Amino acid sequence: MKRCIIIGASHAGVSCAFALRREGWAGEITLIDSDPVFPYHRPPLSKAYLSSLDNMGQKVLRSTESYEQENIHLQLGKSVKGIDRVKKTIQLEDGITQAYDKLVLATGARAFLPSIEGLDSAVNCFPMRTAQDAINIREAFQTIPQKKVLIIGGGYIGLETAASLQKLGGTITVLEREERILARVAPPTLSNFFHQLHRQKGVSIHPQKEVIKVVANEEQNEIICADGSTYQAHLIVVGVGIKVNQELAKAAGLAIENGIKVNAQSQTSDENIYAIGDCTYHYNPYYERYLRLESVQNANDQAKVAAAAICGKETTYDSLPWFWSDQYDIKWQTVGLSNGFTDSVLRKETDQEKSFSVWYFKEERLLAVDAINHGKAYMLGTKYLKQRQIVDKAKLADSSIPFKPKSFLKE
Ligand code: NAP
Repeated sequence: MKRCIIIGASHAGVSCAFALRREGWAGEITLIDSDPVFPYHRPPLSKAYLSSLDNMGQKVLRSTESYEQENIHLQLGKSVKGIDRVKKTIQLEDGITQAYDKLVLATGARAFLPSIEGLDSAVNCFPMRTAQDAINIREAFQTIPQKKVLIIGGGYIGLETAASLQKLGGTITVLEREERILARVAPPTLSNFFHQLHRQKGVSIHPQKEVIKVVANEEQNEIICADGSTYQAHLIVVGVGIKVNQELAKAAGLAIENGIKVNAQSQTSDENIYAIGDCTYHYNPYYERYLRLESVQNANDQAKVAAAAICGKETTYDSLPWFWSDQYDIKWQTVGLSNGFTDSVLRKETDQEKSFSVWYFKEERLLAVDAINHGKAYMLGTKYLKQRQIVDKAKLADSSIPFKPKSFLKE
């Protein structure tokens, strides 16, 4: 019987295992992950999970029974240390070797831990990526005497964590080394909006603060920035980006370029090995360039493509990137990528104060839409992008024109 091994049992890996069955893979499917926790949804970890009493059982990707029904073998708490492409085997840390016919790398990424002096010995200092990280933060937050939290990094992780812990009554400070928060993922309009939002909620946000040293003093930490300013905190959360888990692929001699390089079928430079999710560097037909995307949606989309390709079906990846973030009462949805935009239109709704959208263009071409509490703008933006429609910027800016399918199209 043929065997497909998937390394990595998060969104991409789990989605691929079930998609393989749907596509007709009749052989064995083995899902391996070094994380011992039953495969779970990651997005809620920095959002609702941190500020609730939910247990991990409520966040599983699929029930235990569904793995049994589909005959998918889960091997959790096991690390793969090597791939032998000639023998078509993988070697596990515990010395066991397993043979594959097809191998899928869904190895994702890990939290980046910067080499800040003293960070290793800081008190109650955690990254925020895995279920265990979220548990660590939640438990530490409950025990610290004064709820003084310092977050290093003002990206999605830092800000979602800030919003979640602030709800529990913490005194939260965010230090960001760029000149504005969310600099990697959003244009200035959105950075300013979220900066004001957090400030109104009582979170202190300080851009242009690069943390360079941490000194632990019994139950407190002193955090020192490059400009000489200092902060005190009982709990530190580190949210300064990720590192792609590509070492296995690299050691196996697969093509690597800002991640594991794959073609439109999610196949690596070895025809029997596929890669999916955050760890891949892949071509996006909408933007006509190679990208690495850190998003659940892309993990699921690539998983489906790889599963179909493994089962011999004709398939091509052509997804439009989208992302979302929840902070306080704000739902932020992004469709497309705004990098390189030359023009933007801010669309405000007269009847709703906290609901707007920003539409980004490169000359006349729509590139992306950021929708704040605005499902209709997100949906219409997605439709226009998929259909490559030309949008009339003047109509879009006119808030008296309602959202209808053809409202903003150029005549
Ligand atoms: P991120 O978006 O890269 O943001 C990290 C920020 O920390 C960057 O602006 C970085 O600045 C800054 N930084 C780095 N070193 C610093 C220092 N020493 N002192 C102060 N600031 C420093 O990464 P993230 O927020 O950690 O997110 C990690 C991953 O989780 C990403 O893959 C993200 O997409 C994913 N995630 C996504 C969502 C969502 O889609 N809603 C939610 C949570 C997490 P530089 O740019 O100068 O390095």
